[in-house]
Amino acid sequence: MKRRLVILGAGESGVGAAVLGKQKQYDVFVSDKSVIDSKYKDVLVKEGVAFEENKHTVEQIISADLVVKSPGIPNSTNLIEQLNEKGVLIVSEIEFASWYTNAKLIGITGSNGKTTTTSLVYHILQHSGLNVGIGGNIGKSFALQVARSDYDFYVLELSSFQLDGVDKLKLDVSVLLNITPDHLDRYNNCFDEYVDSKFQIIKNSDEHSVFIYNNDDTTIVNKIQQLNLLSRSYGFTSERLNGKGAGIEKGTLYIDINNPLRISEDVVSLKGKHNSYNIMASAMVASTLNIKENNIIEAIGSFQPIAHRMERVTNVNGVEYINDSKATNVDSTFYALESISSNVIWIAGGVDKGNDYSQLIPLVKSKVQGMVCLGKDNKKLYEAFGNFVDQIDNATSADEAVQKASCMAKKGYTVLLSPACASFDLFKNYEDRGEKFKQGIIKLNQ
Ligand code: ADP
Repeated sequence: MKRRLVILGAGESGVGAAVLGKQKQYDVFVSDKSVIDSKYKDVLVKEGVAFEENKHTVEQIISADLVVKSPGIPNSTNLIEQLNEKGVLIVSEIEFASWYTNAKLIGITGSNGKTTTTSLVYHILQHSGLNVGIGGNIGKSFALQVARSDYDFYVLELSSFQLDGVDKLKLDVSVLLNITPDHLDRYNNCFDEYVDSKFQIIKNSDEHSVFIYNNDDTTIVNKIQQLNLLSRSYGFTSERLNGKGAGIEKGTLYIDINNPLRISEDVVSLKGKHNSYNIMASAMVASTLNIKENNIIEAIGSFQPIAHRMERVTNVNGVEYINDSKATNVDSTFYALESISSNVIWIAGGVDKGNDYSQLIPLVKSKVQGMVCLGKDNKKLYEAFGNFVDQIDNATSADEAVQKASCMAKKGYTVLLSPACASFDLFKNYEDRGEKFKQGIIKLNQ
């Protein structure tokens, strides 16, 4: 008899898992509590996969032999508790897909920098002529690609929620970029639980695996000291390199894993200390895969920043405009402010996820000349920064924020959208916020 595979959540990952499950001869059933997007419904219909939407029918679900759960569904829901009680194995789509490929797997996690680093690693591997796919939290689902493509390598962006659903997944190369408080609502407000979730990335690693981590991150370093690491591990640091790994000296990145490699920070288009970390981590991955130094250096040189992440938009009347809408937590905004050398008019705000802004105060005092608070409720921003900036104002649309910021800015200033908050109060998502910011800048010239 066919094994029953139930998939909870019919988004990119769920539908990918359904296609792969069908191909692997499971009896597949997909259930989504909300309306299923028509592009995904079409795939399910075409593949002949049974599904329901706007509800979870418990009898249909509880009979599963295996459940693939969308990362968006918390473990605390009633349904998941019932499945756990019955002893049904619940995994993430990443775990499920990994059972059906022999490709080499590179996984990248961290509180910030996942998309940038995943994209850069993918770019280097592709530039070097490898047959490589990119997946996880980015692009097409890993499962769909395993079903339909035949890659030798996958570069996977892994969120903590995806790592929570890991069972046997063994990555050949794991990267842990940083750990700062985020999403704690899903981890009983317990930072240690979130840290454990991130460390799931090396759950099944052995002496053949490679682990690349941030040696300047005390949370990571402390945790590593408690573990008995089996994998070959290499740290990266913004200090001088000492031994194997990667480090920085006088504007040059030094990577020493296989063949030593030097990259001048001047030739890269990704700017700022945070991006130096991302570049070192990416070059280290490439080096462990024995990619030629020239290929690594060329690819890093030709990589362009991705939208909404410290994306330079334009210069209007001598003022630079930078879109960092993806900065939805304090740490990412810290690096954004740190990387700018001019005076800044800072656009911040949105849905505050319990932020502690104290980390930003020294940077705000030294660089920020004016602030525009772009959110429905800006009280916390006023309390945190009101005393440290000369001018502060409110805006309830991106156009208004750009207008007000442009009035505050003088020649040579930078207007930076780096909200440190989620976007859902005034925008659909961070992309929408970033796009509207860019449209607002275009209107300045009209
Ligand atoms: P993620 O996919 O983890 O959310 P992104 O690459 O999309 O990360 O970047 C998210 C935000 O974090 C952006 O504002 C970016 O400028 C900032 N950022 C990127 N890399 C790092 C890093 N290594 N450390 C801290 N912040 C970073």
